[in-house]
Amino acid sequence: MLGPQGAGKGTQGALIAAKYGVTSIATGEIFRWAIKGKTALGLKVLEYVDAGRLVPDELTIEVITDRLTADDCMDGFLLDGFPRNVGQARALDALLDDHGTALDGAIVLEVPEEVSLRRILGRRACSNCGRNYHVDAPPEKNWTCDECQGEVVERTDDHEEETVKQRLRLYHEQTEPLKNYYEDKGLLKAIDGEGSPDEVFSRIVAEL
Ligand code: ADP
Ligand code: ZN
Repeated sequence: MLGPQGAGKGTQGALIAAKYGVTSIATGEIFRWAIKGKTALGLKVLEYVDAGRLVPDELTIEVITDRLTADDCMDGFLLDGFPRNVGQARALDALLDDHGTALDGAIVLEVPEEVSLRRILGRRACSNCGRNYHVDAPPEKNWTCDECQGEVVERTDDHEEETVKQRLRLYHEQTEPLKNYYEDKGLLKAIDGEGSPDEVFSRIVAEL
């Protein structure tokens, strides 16, 4: 699943995973958990994630290779935040090819820049289970997660407008070219990402 920051990849990813019974994998989430747990991976990626830069391909591909060969991916998976450049896309194709499989599709969620910025700057997430909220759609009680009672907070890399803009810039420079990459393979499904989560989800389901 492709799309700029704030396009709704996390929200739609969870809905897709639930409906189709596939495992949803978000590289950003993996990195944030590693940072929080102060694991070896977390220490390596911290400086990149905090600055809104891309984690080096070699490390990212290693993480994805590990994750995709786990048992819960054998009946299908959905990727959110990977690949993020052509090098990663080629590595993914090679990995899947080695396992005798291939991608079924590439969904791109399209939203205008101002919508994207507004969504990110108001975005909040549960520090325990990762569920997404927004200042305009907060949890029922006092920034406590509806699902798990965890504390709902702002991501550190969402706090600075400069960091957010840097990530959007990187999206346009490095990730957007993947639209052509997947278009050429006949895999691209472009979805209008504006509107409520339910509206966007029904567009995705119609395409799938
Ligand atoms: P966003 O899409 O809002 O930037 P993510 O959760 O997808 O949020 O990613 C957060 C950060 O994790 C990125 O800014 C980057 O530092 C790192 N990251 C995530 N996925 C990748 C990837 N495929 N390659 C390199 N770095 C990544
Ligand atoms: Zn929670």
